[in-house]
Amino acid sequence: MARKSIPEAIKLQLWVKSAGRCEFKGCNTPVWYNGLTLSEGNFAQVAHIIGSSKDGPRGTEQSEELQIEFSNLMLLCQRCHKEIDDHKENYPTELLRSWKQEHENRIEIQTNYPEDIHKSTLLLFSVNIGDRTVPINYEAARNAMFPKFPTDSKGIKIEEKHFDRLCTPEEWQRFAETRIRSKVTRHLEEGIDDEKIKHLSIFAISPMPLLMYLGRCIGDTVPTDIYQSHRNIDNTSKTWSWQEEANYDVNYLTSCEQEDTSDIVLLKLAISDTVNSDKYNNLLPNSCSIYQITISEPSPHFIKSKTQVEIFSYEYRKLLNQIQAKHGKNCQILILPAIPVSIAVECGRVILPTKDPEIYACEYYKEQGDFQKVLKIN
Ligand SMILES: [Zn+2]
Ligand SMILES: [Zn+2]
Repeated sequence: MARKSIPEAIKLQLWVKSAGRCEFKGCNTPVWYNGLTLSEGNFAQVAHIIGSSKDGPRGTEQSEELQIEFSNLMLLCQRCHKEIDDHKENYPTELLRSWKQEHENRIEIQTNYPEDIHKSTLLLFSVNIGDRTVPINYEAARNAMFPKFPTDSKGIKIEEKHFDRLCTPEEWQRFAETRIRSKVTRHLEEGIDDEKIKHLSIFAISPMPLLMYLGRCIGDTVPTDIYQSHRNIDNTSKTWSWQEEANYDVNYLTSCEQEDTSDIVLLKLAISDTVNSDKYNNLLPNSCSIYQITISEPSPHFIKSKTQVEIFSYEYRKLLNQIQAKHGKNCQILILPAIPVSIAVECGRVILPTKDPEIYACEYYKEQGDFQKVLKIN
């Protein structure tokens, strides 16, 4: 009976699947170098589970047809090969098959692990602003997250086309709770296809208060990347991809414009536009304190990099702490946002549910030229 030589492709497959280590249970010896002298070389032996000849160790009628079958071959070190052939009664076919399988599964699991850090669950969030609906393109989102990849083809999609932003605060609240919170919480608790969410990539377009609310629902327990649509460096096209870090302005200016002992605190976030008093005079009670975070020239095109969002987040969180230190936990913070999408989500995300006071988000109505308090965020 002619003994066929094992094709190079099969040997290669065996080397790869075994990671170049002896597949005898518990041995695991690397076979691409000499463990004593450390000189490199091919120290592997390819062993047949069902022997290569009918009369050899573990030989059967099938011996010839299985001579070059991958599933019948094990990569072994010299010592282990001798062991299984010299003491063949101790190493029946089934046992060797299970060792090969275990070894190859283990290598697969262990080498697969680092891939996780390159995976992220997409969260596409779009709520119409007036009669403008901007659905978020899955492909564009995928491209922006590269070199991360989506964990699955679905992700989490929240798309609403008929939200009436002129509705009452009660209706804002109900919409947020039923359409946003319930969905987000369910996904965070149950995962997707029973797979826990380990990382989120958020792509969102919606009225500001809902973005902050979304951030608050997500919180800071899941690591998150927030993206936003912005103008490319060439200023002609739009992109979701963050620009490489260059010297983008990160000088946020925090100030207290008015100090009072009242429990009401206005917090103006003036990044994409200014927030002048004529826009919120209607909101002012007899007395309140007013704080602001702004930049030297507020503009909708300010945000270009992830670092700008991170530094904002830091300044904002610091200010929330200061406000609480000064006004106590029973104060009520009204946020007046003129901010980019990414910062809005972040503003909700860094809220500490039990530690922070009540926080409300206001919506700016261009039509009337003023802010209205619409949604309780915390
Ligand atoms: Zn052999
Ligand atoms: Zn071995």
